[in-house]
Order: sequence, then C-alpha cells, then structure tokens
Amino acid sequence: MKKNPKVSVIMSEYNTPVEKLDLLSKFDIQQVFQQNEIDAVLHFAASKSVNESVKNPLKYYKNNISSMVNLLEVMKDFNVKKFIFSSSAAVYGSTAQQPISELVDTQAMNPYGQTKVIGEDFLNDLYISDNEWSIAVLRYFNPIGAHESGLLGEQPNGTPNNLMPLITQVASKKRRLLYVFGNDYNTIDGTGVRDYIHVVDLAKGHVSAVQKLFSTHGLHTYNLGTGEGYSVLEIINTFEKVNNVDIAYKIVDRRAGDPPICFANPTKAKEELGWSAERTLEDMCRDSWQWEKTLENIILPN
Ligand code: UDP
Repeated sequence: MKKNPKVSVIMSEYNTPVEKLDLLSKFDIQQVFQQNEIDAVLHFAASKSVNESVKNPLKYYKNNISSMVNLLEVMKDFNVKKFIFSSSAAVYGSTAQQPISELVDTQAMNPYGQTKVIGEDFLNDLYISDNEWSIAVLRYFNPIGAHESGLLGEQPNGTPNNLMPLITQVASKKRRLLYVFGNDYNTIDGTGVRDYIHVVDLAKGHVSAVQKLFSTHGLHTYNLGTGEGYSVLEIINTFEKVNNVDIAYKIVDRRAGDPPICFANPTKAKEELGWSAERTLEDMCRDSWQWEKTLENIILPN
C-alpha cells in the first residue's frame, strides 16, 4: 500500500516506531492500523487547557471527542478492543466529598472537563453495546515532575497555566513572579489544595492498567492520585527547600472555577491494579527543577 505523506514514521531512540498523525483523519488512523499489529491503545491525545476550553469550546469538542470517535471506530473495524482513556479529576468538578472516590457523581465545570465526562460516557455506552471491550478509564489528579534522568519532561505550548511549570519558570528567572490564586480558601493556609502525582508514578499506573486489560474484560475506572493534598504555598516552600532556590510570588484573586480542595481516594487502584504512587512531593519538586534546567536554553516571553 502507498504511504500517506501525512503520516510520518520515525524510529525512537529505543527502536520503537513513532507515527505522527492527526486523529481527526480517520483515513490516517486506518493506515496505522493496517501497517502495524496493534493489541491495545492508550489514548493520550487531547487538548487540556481549562481556560482555552472556555474561550474555544469548539476546538475542545473537536479535538477531544471527534478524534476519539474516529479512533474507536477504527479500533472496532480492526477488532482491537483494549482501550485506556486519559480522563481527569476535572470530571468531579467542585465536590465537597474529599477525598474523592470513583463513586462520586461527575459534574464537570468547564468544556475541558465536559469532554472528559462525555468521553467516559461514550466508553460506557460502547461497553454496554459490546462486552468484548476491555476499557480502563484513568482519572489523573495533578501530574507534575519529569523523568528522574532530566531528559524527559513537558514543554508547555506558550504560557503555561499549570502551577508547576510556572514555578520552575520563576525559579529559572524566565518569569518574574508567580501569581498565587487566592489565600482565603478554607484550607490549611488559605491557598488551593491539590493531589500532585509524579508523572513516572502516573506512567506506571498505565502499565498496571494495561496488564489488567489483558487479564479481564469490562470497563474499570480508577483515580490516579497519591491520596495526599498539598496547598500552593506548601508546594512553593517544598520546591524552595529541595532545590535551594527562591520563588517570588504574589497573592492575587481566586481564579474563576477553581475548586478549593481536590484530592483522590486511590484505594481502588491499589486493590485492583496493585498500583500506588511511590514518589514524594520532594521527588516531584526535584525532578521538575532538573527538567527545567534541561530546557534552560529556551527563553519564553514574560
Ligand atoms: N495556581 C496558582 N497560580 C497559578 C496556577 C495555579 O495559584 O499560576 C493554583 C490553582 O489555583 C490550584 C493549583 O495551583 O489551586 C493547581 O492549579 P493547576 O492549574 O496546576 O491545576 P488544576 O488543579 O487547576 O487542574
């Protein structure tokens, strides 16, 4: 078959083929399935900025939902029925039930979160229609950190919205100040509390979930978090201490739509997947800083 020029294939350092394509093109997905033997799909590709999703919901529904419909249709056609979905704690909205278990009702507060709720509902309907599917829905809490080698991490597009990349950019003087959104919440020090999880622990959660898919059918939903909540000021203080750097910050108004507290009950993942997060907040702060230093030659506008 003729190669599609829109699908570029490169070999990674570990000899793994990497095919770059747009999931909005069903044709391109079909090509990848035709040319490779695929047993399971881990679906990470999506847009993820809450702010942007409020301003441009069409982009989010197209990128996060239409693409997923294409992918699942092709999977069905090729009889590949093992699927891992990157969902989010954003599906819980602003619930008073903390820690949050998977049984708490979903009630997203913005288009981004809504695309994750729809993605989950969609998978649920798919499974009801055909019990041969084996699906894991993984609800990520707040992933931060980078690979401990300092060679693998995230490079946000433009100005980041998330706390940790902003902290590392202030530490490296790419940014002058960190704005802390509100210190009048009913939390330990008034700042927002979240469940931060090291990306390597998160990645290992996926490995455990894939193993689960190969041993059982069904649709299983898991929180991937540590079960510990930390405030923004606790993150700043730990980052400063572990890395021996200063983070200049200023308290400003609350960010619209931010829940005061959000942390996971991760018991189900521990019991059913044998997985739990092992890395500490200190590890996350150290590895995030290590990665920022790798990126140091990239200067971003303030
Ligand atoms: N936050 C902050 N300043 C920033 C970005 C985030 O104070 O510039 C706070 C935010 O209000 C929340 C926490 O840091 O309490 C984590 O925010 P993030 O955007 O990283 O993740 P979210 O939990 O909103 O998905």
